[in-house]
Amino acid sequence: MELLRFWPSGAAEPRRKPGKSILTRRILAINAIALAILVGGVFYLDQFRQGLIDARIQNLRIEGEIIAGALSEAATSGPAARALEVERANQILARLVVPAEIRARLFAVNGNLLVDSRDLAVGNLIVTKKLPPIGTWESLWKKIANAFHSGVDSLAAKDDLPLYTESMHQQAEQYPEVMAALGGDADVRMRVTDQRATIITVAVPVQRLRRVLGGLLLSKDTADIDRMVRKERVEILKIFGISLGVTLLLSTFLASTIARPIRLLAEAADRVRPGRGRNVEIPDFTHRNDEIGELSHSLQDMTAVLFRQLDAVEAFAADVSHEIKNPLTSLRSALETFGRTKDPANQEKLMAIMESDVARLNRLITDISAASRLDAQMSRAHMEPVDLVILLKELVEVYQATAKPGTPPLTLVLPSEPRQKSMLVPGIDSTLGQVIRNLVDNAFSFSPPGQPVTITLRRRGLEAEVLVEDEGTGIPPENIAAIFDRFYSERPSSEGFGKHSGLGLAICKRIVEAHGGEIFAENRRATKRDGWAVGRNASADTDVGGSDAPGGGARFIVRLPIV
Ligand code: ADP
Repeated sequence: MELLRFWPSGAAEPRRKPGKSILTRRILAINAIALAILVGGVFYLDQFRQGLIDARIQNLRIEGEIIAGALSEAATSGPAARALEVERANQILARLVVPAEIRARLFAVNGNLLVDSRDLAVGNLIVTKKLPPIGTWESLWKKIANAFHSGVDSLAAKDDLPLYTESMHQQAEQYPEVMAALGGDADVRMRVTDQRATIITVAVPVQRLRRVLGGLLLSKDTADIDRMVRKERVEILKIFGISLGVTLLLSTFLASTIARPIRLLAEAADRVRPGRGRNVEIPDFTHRNDEIGELSHSLQDMTAVLFRQLDAVEAFAADVSHEIKNPLTSLRSALETFGRTKDPANQEKLMAIMESDVARLNRLITDISAASRLDAQMSRAHMEPVDLVILLKELVEVYQATAKPGTPPLTLVLPSEPRQKSMLVPGIDSTLGQVIRNLVDNAFSFSPPGQPVTITLRRRGLEAEVLVEDEGTGIPPENIAAIFDRFYSERPSSEGFGKHSGLGLAICKRIVEAHGGEIFAENRRATKRDGWAVGRNASADTDVGGSDAPGGGARFIVRLPIV
């Protein structure tokens, strides 16, 4: 049965597992991406280092060529010289090379080392380096930084450089670049010491009139460049550390202000299930001026509506079973008596009762199923502008075309102003038509033969008003509100029992309220047939109001908001 749709008893268990916030993880992941980009900067620094090394090679080469030029000019005995003068070469190198920065070695054509700038008389250069005290924060930090650097170095290193070795008796053959220089070509090499320092060596030929007189080898390490790059890396590491801290804090904050409330709301929504009791507290975040506040508000509303619906369904089911029980009880007792009685006249009477009970059951079940389908039908349909002028005209035409002899005449009174050719209300035309049909059918059933039933359409401010009036008995004043209750039916005994379920006006009310309108009834004033009600309590208005006094026919008023 349609009603059972309200009971999602087979609903699946909640999918979420407690303690796992996907949203928090996403927030963390997105922030981590930003951090990863920052860390990527560390590798970008390595490219920057390569650029500096290339520039250094270039400089060394130029410097080498200048020194080689000076040597070929000044350390030779003339254009025809075949060898370099060691004494002069010593002086020139001492003057041109700053020993702390560059090391210069001069090889003779036969491969022997002639001069090494390290041995020049500048004094013994002692480099002192302050080591951090052991076991302090500073040393710990150094260790972390070193581990970080060697990690990044090993990740960033593109190709492994050969190891730099130096023998006691240096010869040109030990350095391929010097051999190249002695052959007349400049050459560059990069090596790494066992201390993992990179050494750049540039060898240029010392030539006089194209004759090679020796090979000049300049070498310089990249310690300063590496220091600079490492310093930047440490800066990035620091920023990364700070950002990581801030990200974690922010993510935790976001998680507690977004993910946690959402989870609480979701858990509360899971608890809102029939059969689990109604003591479900939807967490109240409505004080928050944000989407979570809205969500909490909507959930509270939704839960309230849901429980109202459940109550309505429950009440409806109770009413239905009560209403069905009456004819069933009557049917059972008629059947029992029928079995005992032999009198044909009695049997006939009992048969008539049983027939009427069955007819009533049939009527009840038909109307109940229509009423229970109504909500689903209305929730599926879309509200569209409905022109009441057209709807009423068509409805009256159908009634007139199908009128049986003796049916009261049906008249339609439309607004007289020509500009009110149409009157649009947002709605579902089939259900609005059903409302008017129910009212007209009731009016017909209460109208004395030949007396007219009138439908009037008129505008009342921002509302359209449809009035259905008859010349019947009217409604007992004490029942004016009750007639809209479910299964309320009070009809003259002359009308066949079982023809009316008492659901007609309840359905009308449900439909009109779903359209944002209102419906009510009143008795027409016996003496003032032309006075129209202007309000629910219009009976208080002596000039234009209706009346609660029966006798002058009934008036049903439907008001719907205009588009
Ligand atoms: P039903 O028509 O099945 O009795 P309704 O819900 O349509 O149920 O009407 C409920 C009751 O309202 C009717 O039984 C009747 O007493 C009263 N009623 C409805 N329409 C009129 C009318 N036009 N004049 C007098 N009473 C009416």
